Amino acid sequence: MANVTLKLPGHQYDIRVEPGALLQMGSWVRAVAPHAQAALIADAAIEVTHGSKALASLRAAGYDVVTATMPSGEEHKTLDTARQLYEPLLQRRLDRKAPIIALGGGVTGDTVGFVAATYLRGVPFIQCPTTLLAMVDASVGGKVGVDVPQGKNLIGAFHQPHLVAIDTETLTTLPPRELRCGLAECVKHGVIRDEALFEWIGNKLQNILQLDAHTLVELVAWNVRIKANVVMADEKESGERAHLNFGHTFGHAIESTTGYSAFHHGEAISLGMVAAARLAVSLNRCAATVAQRIESRLQAIGLPTGAANLPPTSTLMDAMFADKKVAGGKLRLVLPTRMGAVDLVSDAPADAIVAAWDSLHA
Ligand code: NAD
Repeated sequence: MANVTLKLPGHQYDIRVEPGALLQMGSWVRAVAPHAQAALIADAAIEVTHGSKALASLRAAGYDVVTATMPSGEEHKTLDTARQLYEPLLQRRLDRKAPIIALGGGVTGDTVGFVAATYLRGVPFIQCPTTLLAMVDASVGGKVGVDVPQGKNLIGAFHQPHLVAIDTETLTTLPPRELRCGLAECVKHGVIRDEALFEWIGNKLQNILQLDAHTLVELVAWNVRIKANVVMADEKESGERAHLNFGHTFGHAIESTTGYSAFHHGEAISLGMVAAARLAVSLNRCAATVAQRIESRLQAIGLPTGAANLPPTSTLMDAMFADKKVAGGKLRLVLPTRMGAVDLVSDAPADAIVAAWDSLHA
């Protein structure tokens, strides 16, 4: 097992990575949020496979548990879902010391985290991520929120959890496509911070894809350490936390113009990282070999590095400039300088960005 402590001014929490963690999660929750009641809110698709373990463990730790589920899928990361989730909490008069536990992928964690941030102006929140993407990225760092028709994650809050309990055994039921999507974020961490991780993913790829228990703990813990270090340095994204957006400004444009359905988040990020790396090469900001290494790693994982069914470049450009991270009409892009290091770039010429988009259509 591995444990990473994320320390912020006035708040710190553990991120515990362990096969079988769900069976012990109740006692871990009791140590950080002791109370009579708790709420367990799970992704409906995994309630049966993994929810029963979490529920039994919370009950064994003495909690009177209010349970609820939310439907799976990005289309349900909405204020409507949040509104429905408040109902059982209000009905059972959950008070502000009762922890709310999210069990599921990033969609569940973001939505339930938003509920925990806003119910009674904020109650203790526990993340139990069950996708690789949520384990290595979404569950760590306290960003919670929902989507609105105008865009993704536009309504939200910073609400740090009291604990992140990661049961790597839950990955055994994850569809392979979702596992690959999580690996896109791991590649991202390698590119922005850690060449050794980038290489290790290549060397251990077969063990990862075969779900070797020891390798999965190492993979998740290594990525969690990187994410936690970035968050500790810049909790509210006034500086280096923005590095985590490598590939995301391009990726979000792909997701929003394709209705969040044609490409899963990790696939859109994979395409976005390829575009960003090619842009960096065209601006002489990094060597061509950096972009080539990123592309071949993504291809080996089975992630897309180009797609025939992307919307036209002009549509993608419009969506890119509508992103919430565009400040005063200026795009702030995260571009690699070498493997393991990136820069924030606000002066990339539009024609170079257009060329990067065009290259994905090829
Ligand atoms: P997701 O939550 O939709 O999960 C993907 C699919 O896997 C769903 O169909 C889900 O039902 C299923 N699933 C989950 N766990 C499973 C398991 N163990 N076995 C079988 N099926 C399982 O998507 P995701 O990729 O986990 O997360 C994407 C979301 O995360 C996006 O909304 C994105 O914006 C958000 N995100 C947030 C942050 C953050 O800092 N808050 C960071 C990155 C991404």
